[in-house]
Amino acid sequence: MILYLSRIHFPVTTLGPGRRIGLWFQGCSIRCKGCVSADTWGTGKGGVSINEIMAAIDPWLDEADGITISGGEPFDQPEALINLLAEIRSKTNKDILVYSGHPFEKIAPLVDQCKGTIDALISDPYEENASQTLALRGSDNQRLHCLTPLGETRFRQFDRTLKLSDKTFDIMFEEEGAIWLAGIPRRDDMRRLKTVLAKEGHIAVTTQDERSARGRTYDNPYS
Ligand code: SF4
Repeated sequence: MILYLSRIHFPVTTLGPGRRIGLWFQGCSIRCKGCVSADTWGTGKGGVSINEIMAAIDPWLDEADGITISGGEPFDQPEALINLLAEIRSKTNKDILVYSGHPFEKIAPLVDQCKGTIDALISDPYEENASQTLALRGSDNQRLHCLTPLGETRFRQFDRTLKLSDKTFDIMFEEEGAIWLAGIPRRDDMRRLKTVLAKEGHIAVTTQDERSARGRTYDNPYS
């Protein structure tokens, strides 16, 4: 089965407890205003088999504290998501956190089909004008669901407001020189980052800038 994937990375430390394997799906039909992951919106790119994904994450499974699946929108590829989750669960008992921009009520039947494979789910779209005070969430309308006993143990602790000690970003450097960020930026973080870099003579362009400059959906350069 083919799954459209934007990125895989290890370790990610900002999207759940510990050092985690991060998997970002490619393709998102929700298109929230202000989304910082516009490079993951386009569909039909980054096709890989589930076997290839499992081979890629296999060397990290022992060391990882958990797995986070984000996007893009994982539930836009429901069959592939269900199959991937089953494969991951067959290989590890580490916790699995999934992000979705759909309201929980809309995806509840699919979540039911993932029973026992999703330990925690964060649902609902990013709302640009909502407050940003909650751990692991980009806007306060988003809800945390602990779906298994492991999910309760690992994620109930995040049903709280943000602390100063919560990390915001993991910064990744790609071989060809591109830099990307994993995590949940606060409003204005990108503007502050650009200001800091500009003082050092660097120009930072985000996917949001690319999108408005081109007047169309940003094409993922990594696919
Ligand atoms: S669901 Fe996530 S990836 Fe999709 S537009 Fe909203 S914030 Fe962006």
